Amino acid sequence: QHAKQSGNGSSHFNDAMARDLHHRQRMTERLLAALKGDGLQLCYQPQFDLTTGELVGAEALCRWHDAEWGWVSPGEFIPLAEERGLIRPLGDWVLQEACRQLVAWRHSGLRLPGRLSINISAQQFDDPQLAGHIAGLIEDTEISSIALEITESDFMRDPEQAVDITRALRQAGFALSIDDFGTGYSSLAYLRRFAADALKIDISFVRDMLTSHHDRAIVDTIIAMARALGLRTVAEGVETREQAAALAELGCDQAQGYYFGRPVSGVAFFEQWGATVGRD
Ligand code: C2E
Ligand code: MG
Ligand code: MG
Ligand code: MG
Repeated sequence: QHAKQSGNGSSHFNDAMARDLHHRQRMTERLLAALKGDGLQLCYQPQFDLTTGELVGAEALCRWHDAEWGWVSPGEFIPLAEERGLIRPLGDWVLQEACRQLVAWRHSGLRLPGRLSINISAQQFDDPQLAGHIAGLIEDTEISSIALEITESDFMRDPEQAVDITRALRQAGFALSIDDFGTGYSSLAYLRRFAADALKIDISFVRDMLTSHHDRAIVDTIIAMARALGLRTVAEGVETREQAAALAELGCDQAQGYYFGRPVSGVAFFEQWGATVGRD
């Protein structure tokens, strides 16, 4: 207000920019401290077969609790980590922590029927040595228990390189899902060459598929196309029984979402789901 009156129209804007920059700098420092200390956690969201209703896997999702700010959303700190060069060490931590959890579950008698999915950022994916790098971080025996999720738009940043990297990942024994599918404009030709196993139907289409013919048609088309290409489909963000039923009717293979189960700690996951699968 005052700045406007004095004719210096941009000073408020500059102040706000400076405050924002300062906040982001503080947040970066505290995220780094959380990463170095033990301030980050992984949560695990169960995934189910839509035909049999059986647990088939889980997705690991990163969580950050800050003493002052409380829970910070990954929608906020993952982009920050990407921007500030922290995503590779953070991604390494996620992979190692996820493997530690798989081993801990196994020792308690829970063997995940399918794979544990782990999200990979654009900058991690932008590494021609990614397959070797990940294999070096974890035990060889865990490779067959892990699926990597990469968003569709990240595949398309450099599709030719993506083709090579995905092939190397598959050759090493990782499974591969294309995350947030339907939002990233990939071409059919590339989809065939990406060597993925599964398409994850973006939450936005699932959310609106019962109210919008348009979105239902998109879901239908994605499932038909995936089938033609020999890819599994996994629906994200299923919140109601009606959505689950509609997806099953369209032939979607698997689903995750609040209707089935929220992301929970490794201990809670074991307590909730351990009894539903075969124990060792
Ligand atoms: P994403 O990989 O697409 O993960 C799915 C998001 O949907 C998660 O949000 C999950 O908690 C949320 N979700 C699951 N079921 C439902 C539902 O029924 N309704 C609604 N409204 N949401 C649901 P979250 O945990 O906040 O993560 C957001 C995004 O942050 C992820 O999207 C992923 O792109 C990124 N992210 C999370 N953890 C990691 C990580 O360890 N590494 C990287 N690189 N990215 C991560
Ligand atoms: Mg994901
Ligand atoms: Mg994502
Ligand atoms: Mg997604």
